[in-house]
Amino acid sequence: MSQNLSSQLEEYLPQQILKLVRDTGEKASELGQEVYLVGGVVRDLFLDTANFDLDLVVEGDAIRLAQELAKDSQAKLTVHPHFGTAKLSYSNFSLDLATARRETYSRPGALPTVQPGNLSDDLRRRDFSINAMALSLAPQRFGELVDLYHGKDDLDNQLIRVLHPNSFIDDATRILRGLRYEQRLDFKFEPETAELVRRDARMLDTISGDRIRHELELILKEDYPERVLRRADELGVLNKLHPSLKGNGWLSERFDQARQLSKRTSPYTIYLCLLIYNLTDQENEQFLSRLNFPKRLAQAMRHTLQLKAQLHSLASPQIRRSDIYQLLARYTTQSIQANAVASESPVVTRHLQLYLAKLRYVKPLLNGEDLQRMGIPSGPQLGKILEALREARLNGEVRTREEEEKLVVTWRQTS
Ligand code: ATP
Ligand code: MG
Repeated sequence: MSQNLSSQLEEYLPQQILKLVRDTGEKASELGQEVYLVGGVVRDLFLDTANFDLDLVVEGDAIRLAQELAKDSQAKLTVHPHFGTAKLSYSNFSLDLATARRETYSRPGALPTVQPGNLSDDLRRRDFSINAMALSLAPQRFGELVDLYHGKDDLDNQLIRVLHPNSFIDDATRILRGLRYEQRLDFKFEPETAELVRRDARMLDTISGDRIRHELELILKEDYPERVLRRADELGVLNKLHPSLKGNGWLSERFDQARQLSKRTSPYTIYLCLLIYNLTDQENEQFLSRLNFPKRLAQAMRHTLQLKAQLHSLASPQIRRSDIYQLLARYTTQSIQANAVASESPVVTRHLQLYLAKLRYVKPLLNGEDLQRMGIPSGPQLGKILEALREARLNGEVRTREEEEKLVVTWRQTS
């Protein structure tokens, strides 16, 4: 007798989503299809952590079902006929529907060949037992658990387990996914799976840079990514992304500080800058091209190392504020933040923080139009005067508008 979770589901899902899920089951049944809730949401229902990214698997035709559901609702429908998938986007959540499928891998790391299949095929292609459970939404079986790989036992025992020994060879991104779940949930790889992680870490070489970068991004968006990186280092995985990367105590402390620094936004870019902080320029370039980082991120990471090489000029306690400005103005904000976190010198850190908190916002009170009114023609000269005014402000040599005007007049007389 399989377990029925309808009452847990009723408590877990917000009313509006629950209704939608029930309607989906009914509509599918009218169409002669079966539909199941699968993956993360089933896992998180057992763990009682909120997750309203609903993934549904349809035995039948997901697109047809989604079209029917879209008919009498406000939802926006997107379909991918090639993949047999559809997305219904509501104002505050979304439903992903996928036609049940079977996957085969022509070679390690290749994208799978996909064929229609049934629920059990669809569960067999999944990464870990805890992600391979399904709940029926059929009206007569609503909430019935399908757990072909004993995912519930593994959840109870806090284990991450692959479904078969070739799993990481088929798709080595699962290694990175597994590390992420292990640390997020505070679980452990089941011993054979841990062995497979070590054995197959080198299969990450078969994965494209874009896919690895995507997984790294998901890791860095976790609450405590340093734990994942530390464990990845321990299991011989991190050095497959680049041999010089380290997930050590240094990194953990710096990530923690980076979080304090940017309380509201995810410090994704700063994390990346810290991750490569102890690489040489050349190693960083290898890493950037292996993971095919987009321009903006690559620039922040390059700037981080360039600025690191310049930090000695910020070590003097007597440095003028305008010199701090001159040095830092050309670097991206995140590369400065990363250096503020990583620098070993309190004086340097203080100067970086001063720039971030204040100096970078300093502007003269006079603008270009004011200067033109004072008779200065537009052109490079005007730009230089504005820069010189900024410098004077930074160093506290002028405070008021009048003082700025006076200074401009003196410069004109002496030039
Ligand atoms: P998260 O909380 O991280 O979003 P999730 O379980 O919802 O967890 P998704 O990345 O949204 O994860 O994927 C949904 C489901 O698809 C997973 O639960 C898993 O069953 C399956 N899946 C995703 N990626 C893979 C993969 N590389 N190999 C096998 N199955 C996968
Ligand atoms: Mg998800």
